[in-house]
Formats: sequence, structure tokens, C-alpha cells
Amino acid sequence: LPDNDCIFCNIIEKNKSGKTEYEDDEVVVLWDINPQAPVHLLVIPKMHIARLSEFSEKDLHLLTKMMSVTQKVVKRLKLSDKGFRLVINDGHDSGQSIFHVHMHILSGRRMTWPPG
Ligand code: AMP
Ligand code: ZN
Repeated sequence: LPDNDCIFCNIIEKNKSGKTEYEDDEVVVLWDINPQAPVHLLVIPKMHIARLSEFSEKDLHLLTKMMSVTQKVVKRLKLSDKGFRLVINDGHDSGQSIFHVHMHILSGRRMTWPPG
């Protein structure tokens, strides 16, 4: 069920606008409003699950789906030519700020390692 207080649920339910790169019945891909790289996208399951560590067994197919959607978008935007990074923040120490699972796709600049 959508969470009325969740920014991503509100964008998914179209109560709030977002710039969408891809959408199907299970997953949406949005352009991040505060981009940390020339390409910064968020791959979001439509189902409200707070964080990766709260995924239940029956919903795990959504992780595979997120990866297959990522492949589609990466091909469309030709991100593999120079490469990209995927990030999922989970919980306080990671810096997770929105508690609706999402995976960042970052591309278009040289990344550093380790991450900050
Ligand atoms: P995290 O810190 O991993 O929880 O990532 C949350 C991300 O959502 C941040 O990169 C924010 O810039 C981004 N964000 C916050 N609000 C919005 C919004 N309304 N539309 C698109 N991205 C957003
Ligand atoms: Zn939500």
C-alpha cells in the first residue's frame, strides 16, 4: 500500500511531479532532483518497502526486475560506454534519507573509491 507521507509513493501516485525516464507496472526510474553526477537516476519499486534489509522473500523478484530495468535504461542512455555506478543506501550510517527502497544510477563523471 502507498504511504501518504512518502515522497516516492506520492510521485508514483502522481500526487507530486517527478521527471520520469522509465515506468512499468512494478518499477519507475526518476531523475534525481539533486544530482551528484551528470547522470543521476533513481530506480524505485512501486511497492512501498522502506529499505533493502526489509525486503521479504516474496518480493525479491523486484530486485531482479530493478536490475533488468537498469540494463534497459543504461542501454538507452549509452551509459556503458564510459561506465556507471549503482548504490543502495540502507539505514542511518549509509545516509539513507528517503525510506522507500531505491537504487541510484550515477554516471557521466569519474567516480572515486572508497565512496565518502
Ligand atoms: P538516499 O539518500 O539514498 O535515501 O537518496 C534519496 C535521493 O532522493 C537523494 O539523492 C535526493 O536528492 C533524491 N530526492 C529527494 N526528493 C526527490 C524528488 N522529489 N524527486 C527526485 N529525487 C528526489
Ligand atoms: Zn513509499
